[in-house]
Amino acid sequence: AEAGARLKRWPFHPNGTEGFAKAEVTVGGISTANLSSQTMMAKSVPGLYAVGEAVDVTGWLGGYNFQWAWASGYAAGQAL
Ligand SMILES: Cc1cc2nc3c(=O)[nH]c(=O)nc-3n(C[C@H](O)[C@H](O)[C@H](O)COP(=O)(O)OP(=O)(O)OC[C@H]3O[C@@H](n4cnc5c(N)ncnc54)[C@H](O)[C@@H]3O)c2cc1C
Repeated sequence: AEAGARLKRWPFHPNGTEGFAKAEVTVGGISTANLSSQTMMAKSVPGLYAVGEAVDVTGWLGGYNFQWAWASGYAAGQAL
């Protein structure tokens, strides 16, 4: 029990990342403010769509980025 309590109190601070070569998702991209949330079409360029990794949407690792890519792609596909 004492060992468990000590482990729970052990502070752990990541001291960096392994950089772009090991990255699984990137921050940044086309602003969601400029896209329709229904169709993913650019508000100022009718007929231009952006989905998935191209858009400034970043999820936790664990499937959220796949889900975003598939869901936004589906929404855009339905609108075409
Ligand atoms: C190592 C790694 C592990 C990951 N693990 C997970 C995970 O476990 N869970 C999760 O949710 N997400 C994970 N991700 C993130 C996830 O893979 C991406 O967010 C998702 O695949 C993005 O989908 P996308 O279709 O937007 O882009 P992409 O899958 O990058 O597809 C873009 C496609 O466009 C093609 N392309 C590029 N330029 C051109 C061009 N000029 N002409 C024609 N085609 C072009 C590319 O070849 C590519 O096939 C991981 C990513 C990496 C790199």
